[in-house]
Amino acid sequence: MAEAPSHPVPDGPGLGAFLLLWLSVPLVELYLGWPLSNRPMAWQYMVEFAVFAGLGWAQWRFATHPVLRTPFGPLLVSVGMVFLVMGPDDLVGRLLYLVGIGVVVWAGLTALARFRIPLLVGALVAVGARVGEQVVRMSTIDSFLTLEGGAPFADVALWPLRAAPVLPPAVDVGPPVVIISIDTLRADDAAAMTSLRRLAARGASWPRAMSTSSWTLPAVASIQTGLAPQDHGAACLAGVHCQGMVEGVPLLAEDLAEKGYANAAFLANAWLSRTTGFAPGFHNFQPMATAPFDLKLDMVPPKDEELPSAEQVVDAALSWLEVTPNPSFYLWVHLLDPHMPYVNAEDEAHREVLGHDLRVARPWTPDMQAALRESYRNEIAVTDAAVGRLLDALEARGVLDSGIVVLTADHGEEFWEHGDVEHGHSHHAEVVDVPLVLVAPGVEPGERVGLASLMDIAPTVRAAVGLGASGYDLRQPIPADRIAVSWGTIYRRVQCSARDATRRLILDECNPAYARLYDLVHDPMELHGVAPVTGDPLLVAAEALEPPLQHGDEAATTAALEALGYVDR
Ligand SMILES: [Zn+2]
Repeated sequence: MAEAPSHPVPDGPGLGAFLLLWLSVPLVELYLGWPLSNRPMAWQYMVEFAVFAGLGWAQWRFATHPVLRTPFGPLLVSVGMVFLVMGPDDLVGRLLYLVGIGVVVWAGLTALARFRIPLLVGALVAVGARVGEQVVRMSTIDSFLTLEGGAPFADVALWPLRAAPVLPPAVDVGPPVVIISIDTLRADDAAAMTSLRRLAARGASWPRAMSTSSWTLPAVASIQTGLAPQDHGAACLAGVHCQGMVEGVPLLAEDLAEKGYANAAFLANAWLSRTTGFAPGFHNFQPMATAPFDLKLDMVPPKDEELPSAEQVVDAALSWLEVTPNPSFYLWVHLLDPHMPYVNAEDEAHREVLGHDLRVARPWTPDMQAALRESYRNEIAVTDAAVGRLLDALEARGVLDSGIVVLTADHGEEFWEHGDVEHGHSHHAEVVDVPLVLVAPGVEPGERVGLASLMDIAPTVRAAVGLGASGYDLRQPIPADRIAVSWGTIYRRVQCSARDATRRLILDECNPAYARLYDLVHDPMELHGVAPVTGDPLLVAAEALEPPLQHGDEAATTAALEALGYVDR
């Protein structure tokens, strides 16, 4: 005889209707987060879909009261979840967002009291712990609201599972590696930094080094992969679709972790996040700036109170260094202070000004421009002092003697040299040329004549710790005929460029028809561009540049990875 179910299923809408309602939550979220969601990964979305399908089933199966069988509850939860995940930054959005959090908590507690579902208890505890951690860590309402920018619900809910990464055994598998990348640091102003000179006295430095882009995301991805933007994929396409790295691209941190290194990253630029693909391989990944959810729509940097200072980032790195028992570690520190706004400026007007204001809103006289440049240099001085403290700690541990230390920048900054200001719009020297210093065992101190690129850093580190690497090894002389290339802008027309030791070629719209060639020996300010001749090696190199593939085109992505030798099939 069949047992009577303890909760007979009431009449009314079928299971499909409940599933549809509940699955609308992750579906909406998937749609909103798709442009940036190559990481977190597919399995996390699958967990999320399973959880929400389970909730739909539970409501269909157990909710006996007619009120609890209406779509009212799930719809409120849907709205609440969307706001919980989005973290809007306008006032109305914030209020709605707080309401959304309340709705989620209310709906969860109601369901909990009614159904006593252990899964829901776990999810609520996890979300509560995550929110609490964010509140304590960030201690500002703005940062709390963004919840690390668009992390899927499952990613948030599963946070406790990955809160304590397991460090590898503390054995010596290679020299310590430190990469210090400083945002928006012009090569010419960097040359005056005490910390840079201190490193340069111990290692190699390149008066000619070029970024792979005019702005942060693609350039830093090149540092961490050794690949060009078209290969690692992290970029904004046509200024409207922004995406992180292609899943599967090998990161330096992953290679080092596999070798047995303990890895940590302390990052002050919101573009460098879990979402954009920088976290794999790091046992301790600290994106210290919060990202707006929809990066493709909101290019405005976080407000000054949200920007972690070089002091704070270095403090965090030093704390980690103190407790890390591993002699083989990889420490990556990315500092943001030279980026606008200049929060340390004496002139209060400089403390809030952003590139957008400078470009469109105010007349800036030459005197005002010079004063702003001084505020920029002041930020570099603040950064310099913080880097100095980091170098003190590294020196005390012997890392400057036996380790690999790189100091560089993602890009520079224009101060109206070519009629514009900030970065991300141009490929002239002030924007795409960067400082670069390498301290490593066996590297003799002194300037190098060759032309270096940010793409050379990862292969150099890989080779220096005994990993196989393709690309230029900066410990060896770079061929005199080397051509370095750079791709992309974040606003205005897209640009490409290529340079060798004495010339730079810039293509507007990456179009050979709009090519300007500059003689860097006789025209170092790059004021008199001429058309290149057909077949010029710089033109050939620039013409070969492609924009990164838009993610989601799996076949094309796989083909690209196969071409790079990353996929075996
Ligand atoms: Zn940057």
